[in-house]
Amino acid sequence: MIAFLGGTFDPVHNGHLHAARMAAGALSCPVRLVLSAHPPHRPAPLASAERRWAMLELACAAEAGLDADDVELRRGGPSYTVDTLEALRLRHGDEPLSWIIGTDAFNEIHTWRRWRSVLDLGHLLVLPRPGAELEGAALKLYLEHRCPDLEQRPAGGIRLLDEAMLPVSASAVRALIAKGGDASHLLPEGVCAYIKQHGLYARSEWPVR
Ligand code: ATP
Repeated sequence: MIAFLGGTFDPVHNGHLHAARMAAGALSCPVRLVLSAHPPHRPAPLASAERRWAMLELACAAEAGLDADDVELRRGGPSYTVDTLEALRLRHGDEPLSWIIGTDAFNEIHTWRRWRSVLDLGHLLVLPRPGAELEGAALKLYLEHRCPDLEQRPAGGIRLLDEAMLPVSASAVRALIAKGGDASHLLPEGVCAYIKQHGLYARSEWPVR
C-alpha cells in the first residue's frame, strides 16, 4: 500500500501532518504529500507553487515516513486528482493505492473532473475533519463503497478513519498571520521560520479581490 495526501498546502500546517501520521498508522504504509500546484476548484493560492513546495519539503524533511511528491507540480496545468491518480497508477502498477482526503474536500467530490473514475484508480481514506459531516453524493458514495480493509485490492474501496483530527486550517493560519498574530503553535518549525523569512501571508502581500 502507498498513500497520498493531496493539498494546496498554503501553507502546510500541523493539521496536515497529524492527518498524514494517522493515515500512515492506519494503513501501515508511507504517505506522500502531493502539492496541488494549480488547484482548479478554489481561488488561486496566496503563496506561489514554488514557495508552497519549499514549505512542504521542509515539513516532510523533519518527519520520518512522510515525503513531498511533485507529480502535479511537474505536470503543469490544472491539478485534477483523476489525472494525478492515472499518473500514480502507472508509476505504482497494481499496488494498492489510497488517496487521503478530509471530509470537507470529500463532500465536494461530485464537482471533480471525472469523479466517478477516481475509485477505478485508487481507494479513498477519508479523515473526519472537525465541522464537516459526510453528506450528499459523498455520503452515498461512501455507503456504496465502504471497505474496512483497503489492502485486499488495488482500488475501489472507501474507509472512513475513526480518529480525531486537529482543528487547524490553512485559512485560519493565513488570517492569523495577516492580523499580526503568532501561528507558530499551528505550524512545523521550519515552515514557521520560512514564512517569517519571506514575509508570507502578511496583509500587504494579499492581492486585492
Ligand atoms: P484552506 O483552509 O486554505 O482551505 P486546508 O487547511 O483545508 O486549506 P488544504 O491544503 O486545502 O488545507 O487541504 C488538503 C487536504 O488536507 C484536504 O483533503 C483537507 O481536507 C485535508 N486537511 C486539511 N486540514 C486538515 C486537518 N486539520 N485535519 C484533517 N485533514 C485536513
